[in-house]
Amino acid sequence: MLRIYDTRTRQTEEIAPARALRMHTCGPTVHRRAHLGDLRSYLLSDLIRRVLERRRVRMVVCRDITDVGHLAGDAKAPGGGIPGRPEGRSMTEIARHYEDSFERDTAALNIRPPEHAPRASETIEPMVELIAKLVEQGNAYTVPDGSVFFDAATFPTYGEISGNRLDTLEPGHRHGDADPRKRRHADWALWKPADGEPAWDTPWGRGVPGRHIGCSAMSLRFLGERVDIHTGTVDLRFPHHEDQRAQSDSAAGHEVVKHWVHGEHLLFDGREMAGPAGDVVLLSDVAEAGLDPLAVRLAFMEQRYRRQARLDWDTLRAADRTLRRWRGRVAEWSESPSAPMAADYVERAEAAFDDDLDTPAALRVLGDLERDESVPPGSKFESFLHLDRVLALDLSTEIGRTPVLPPGAAELLAQRARARDSHDWPAADRLSAALADVGVLVSDTADGQVWVLAGR
Ligand SMILES: [Zn+2]
Ligand SMILES: [Zn+2]
Repeated sequence: MLRIYDTRTRQTEEIAPARALRMHTCGPTVHRRAHLGDLRSYLLSDLIRRVLERRRVRMVVCRDITDVGHLAGDAKAPGGGIPGRPEGRSMTEIARHYEDSFERDTAALNIRPPEHAPRASETIEPMVELIAKLVEQGNAYTVPDGSVFFDAATFPTYGEISGNRLDTLEPGHRHGDADPRKRRHADWALWKPADGEPAWDTPWGRGVPGRHIGCSAMSLRFLGERVDIHTGTVDLRFPHHEDQRAQSDSAAGHEVVKHWVHGEHLLFDGREMAGPAGDVVLLSDVAEAGLDPLAVRLAFMEQRYRRQARLDWDTLRAADRTLRRWRGRVAEWSESPSAPMAADYVERAEAAFDDDLDTPAALRVLGDLERDESVPPGSKFESFLHLDRVLALDLSTEIGRTPVLPPGAAELLAQRARARDSHDWPAADRLSAALADVGVLVSDTADGQVWVLAGR
């Protein structure tokens, strides 16, 4: 079974086998396009889903959409939020616009759609019910301006995810933001008075939800009071996930989330991809550069989710070449007699997936298998396509589309590539001649050797 690093227990935990598992993934805030750094965190939950589905687990995933709260503030900021959008578009139209592009981007990365994708703006009622319950239980308090705050002191295990325990969160640690309405510094708003539209009427006045209540309410509504896995990026550990855990657990009366899983940030060209516009790379930029969007998925998987990923255009281009080569090879192998999977290789790759999503190790297994001349092509074909159920690189797309090499030519090409790498030009020329004899014309480019079938 899958073993994965649990941020709260600070150790690798086995996901207990079950017929169905529930996973909540903190979804996008739809006030801008998602950049590659954002998309990497959704790949994390897709990999968890695919690895578990391989074990015949039925996954139920909730990925919420934040289209209130942040949105209003960010879109009103000068120059921020809505570049290039015509004046007069409503907040809802802008939110839907970015939600659509988020769905297109995740689909292009073969990230499966969630079973539930609730929008915060359409889930206000459960939020209000949850807040009312927390007030009634004494976990939250109201103040005269119409705000409701969570009383952090009522949740003594606060801080287990991030290590930011209540006694370290006293005023003075963060200067200048002492809020006289709060009983203690660590308290946070569940409901805030309206400062514009949209806003909703509640027993405490007209207002908007606080930043963290939506995820608790939507997760409780769509997945219930037992959630097996909750995923997000490391920056969500505090305060977002701490606050969410306090809210949900106080309402349910027990630990709601079994495993908290966090993905690290992405550095592109050495820079954190969370800065101001211009610093970010979008999936559409990758497509405009002529690269397959799934090269991004492959490049992400070449590094483990729990490490800070370093990406640049060279890495993406290299991943694109690997992707195209593998698809070509799969098409070529599809012409060979069928043969059973290469069990030892497949087991090694699957063990790597189970080992805290060690995708780099799994990809190395594919590379080894590709090169192993003792494994029949039919076995390679079955193995690659089997593993592609988790990798989701569309490795079968070239079947029937790529011109197929005549028998023996693939081995000659591999030998020639090796001769070329070791600068053995006489051998490379001999192999070119041998390839020409079977109708394959090979030439050299800056990216390596390429071939065409004679007469095409
Ligand atoms: Zn979350
Ligand atoms: Zn969230």
